[in-house]
Amino acid sequence: MLLFAQFNISLADFVILLIGSGIFVLLIYTAIISKISGEGTASLRAIKAAFLLSSPFLILGLIHFPGQEIVCYITSSILILSAIIVVFPFKMKNPPTDYDPSGNIDERDTVFSRNELVPETDKFLEYYENNSKNSILDNKWRALPGLGSPGGTEYDESDFIVSDCYFEGAANLWNLVDGDVSVKKTSESMEMITNYIKGWTEFMGAHSMGITELKPYHLYSVLGRGNRYNTTPENNHKYAIALTVEMNYDLINQAPGSKTIFESARKYFDVGNMAVMVAGYIRKLGYPARAHIDGNYHVVCPLVARDAGLGEIGRMGILMTPKLGPRVRIAVISTDMPLVLSNRKYDSTMIDFCNICKKCSVTCPSQAISHEDRTEINGVCRWQINSEKCFTYMAKTGTDCGKCMAVCPYSHRDVFFSHKTMNFLIRNSPIFRRIAPTLEDALYGKRLEAMKKVSWKTINNRKRK
Ligand code: SF4
Ligand code: SF4
Repeated sequence: MLLFAQFNISLADFVILLIGSGIFVLLIYTAIISKISGEGTASLRAIKAAFLLSSPFLILGLIHFPGQEIVCYITSSILILSAIIVVFPFKMKNPPTDYDPSGNIDERDTVFSRNELVPETDKFLEYYENNSKNSILDNKWRALPGLGSPGGTEYDESDFIVSDCYFEGAANLWNLVDGDVSVKKTSESMEMITNYIKGWTEFMGAHSMGITELKPYHLYSVLGRGNRYNTTPENNHKYAIALTVEMNYDLINQAPGSKTIFESARKYFDVGNMAVMVAGYIRKLGYPARAHIDGNYHVVCPLVARDAGLGEIGRMGILMTPKLGPRVRIAVISTDMPLVLSNRKYDSTMIDFCNICKKCSVTCPSQAISHEDRTEINGVCRWQINSEKCFTYMAKTGTDCGKCMAVCPYSHRDVFFSHKTMNFLIRNSPIFRRIAPTLEDALYGKRLEAMKKVSWKTINNRKRK
């Protein structure tokens, strides 16, 4: 049957031409959004793929030969069926299970606490006497220039000085984390206050906010930073508010360069600032509240944020938010104010995707991220990064690295619904989850090399859009 007799196009031709054009348009759209996102290589790859992948179908629809109609029908049917199977929201048979930690983390064992120990002091000698195996590991990074040091291979005077200023700014907030509680309790409803905090924090620049009951495993068993070293957290609060802020895509995308420590520090300061304001507000309303901010935590922020419904703990062992992946910084406010709790819904698809993807572990320059499935650690099935290897790399470069964060498929910038669409498909289709890492590599490559530096002018222009 001829659909458009004047063009000599049959229904079979029309369908295969439509598929070819669809592939072409989709890939050109990908090229445009990649270009807007600052991903020049991905944009070029998408243009090449647009011509290479669409041309066989366009040729098949335009060149007529004996049996061409049958070939068109078979090819179209296979393609349409495959596309439906790939995006169909099949139910997983055995989705990865959720877990709750069974014990508490001793903050003194974190590398950031160990980094604060001054050699030959009593604290230092006592710690390594009780933890001799850490001594060998820590000697490696102690022999290197160190985080934020001018000797680091990624040293940039301005970026490192500015990051120092932000870290100092965050430290200056420590005396605001707690304080006196007003004797007069507010008469406002908890719904109104919850909504107020949500709207206000969003206005201040928070990416997400959630509220959970404070659970025993959220607390460090012993504190390990600053003058709180060796003390146990006295925190009997019942609830906790978790806040996340977005880290700038262009700055993180330069990982592992000097801009990642800059952005890390800036966002610790920003989210810390918000947290102390919210804690102060709650105290003035007559309820106790304490902010947990950079270098001054009683709680393990990623676990609180997870239970507040802001994401899951992925392969990197940190919070993965559904929209920005790990490209966030977190702060927490613990309180007794009975705010409206967020309903956490465990998202097994994020863990399933981490099982398949492994992009962070392949890319990590220090091989600190496991390539294996989750394993049982202290009675809990999870991933744990090798923090000594990670910190050794940071001590060598002087920066926060952040390469894992930059390459994570969840971290992409959303331009014209591109990222939202990919996330929707990843969340809903187990088959799409299995092919997404291959598509990601085809477009962006594995990104094993250091990423390109971007000028302030470009960054500021993109920020304005
Ligand atoms: S890069 Fe892949 S494996 Fe790593 S955290 Fe992101 S989604 Fe998970
Ligand atoms: S920050 Fe860098 S070194 Fe550390 S785990 Fe991520 S990629 Fe590896």
